[in-house]
Amino acid sequence: MDGDLDIPVLDDHMHLDPLVGRGAAAAAEFADHGGTHLLVVNKPSWHLLDDLPEGPDDFRTVFDLTVSVVEDATDALPGRAWPVLGVHPALVTQLVEAGYDAASARELMETGLDVAAEYVADGPALALKSGRPHYDVADDVWTASNAVMKRGFALAAETGCAIQLHTESGEDFTEVADWAEERGLPAERVVKHFSGGRLAGPTKSVIANKDDLELAVETGEPFMMETDFIDDPDRPGAVLGPKTVPRRVRWLREEGHDDALRRAHVETPASVYGIDTEATLDA
Ligand SMILES: [Zn+2]
Repeated sequence: MDGDLDIPVLDDHMHLDPLVGRGAAAAAEFADHGGTHLLVVNKPSWHLLDDLPEGPDDFRTVFDLTVSVVEDATDALPGRAWPVLGVHPALVTQLVEAGYDAASARELMETGLDVAAEYVADGPALALKSGRPHYDVADDVWTASNAVMKRGFALAAETGCAIQLHTESGEDFTEVADWAEERGLPAERVVKHFSGGRLAGPTKSVIANKDDLELAVETGEPFMMETDFIDDPDRPGAVLGPKTVPRRVRWLREEGHDDALRRAHVETPASVYGIDTEATLDA
């Protein structure tokens, strides 16, 4: 136990798997090291369902699992957790390999986003998740993926929420941010998950490596911190563990970056998601 940091400590992108992973126990470990708030992103459907999703109810099954593990995680935190729900962009490849054409894959993935937006509108979820493949795909699949992401922007604008993106790596996503703005969603409410320290366009959710964090701090821009912990017992150590964000917070504080910590854990979450990480912290 590394003790209390006296400030909110948010991991902006973590997965908790209540079926085969550690679930809320991973949230408890995060809390033991000073973590207070979590955004829990649903695992890709193929980790939770036996078959490919076929319609809205299959997406509901995936989302309900996340909503329920988030309730348990909240019990383990001095602050709270919130679900971020959507459709993993790599699903398009699985659908195409199973015989879908790009247009019907797009339609099914948009259905998943429609359902996710219902969970935001009705209360349990905080934000949406979309994006496009981080690897090369055929042109029609790329076009379909961009269309799905744009649908996500329209839904986020309509619902009044933010959207996290899983995309290829890079530092210039101004075109993508423009697509969001064209649909009425401020670029600030588009969050690029697994971002490096430098990014143009969306808000960056920086993977909690020291080099990337140092760069993000230097830019003076809004940012958040994440691990992308995947909670998969078959891939231990494949990603950063639940303790990493609190550890990096401690390190940045020792380096004298209190303003940047406030930006990453209070101000940016407030302006992007409309959450108050201070008011939701137990005294
Ligand atoms: Zn992830």
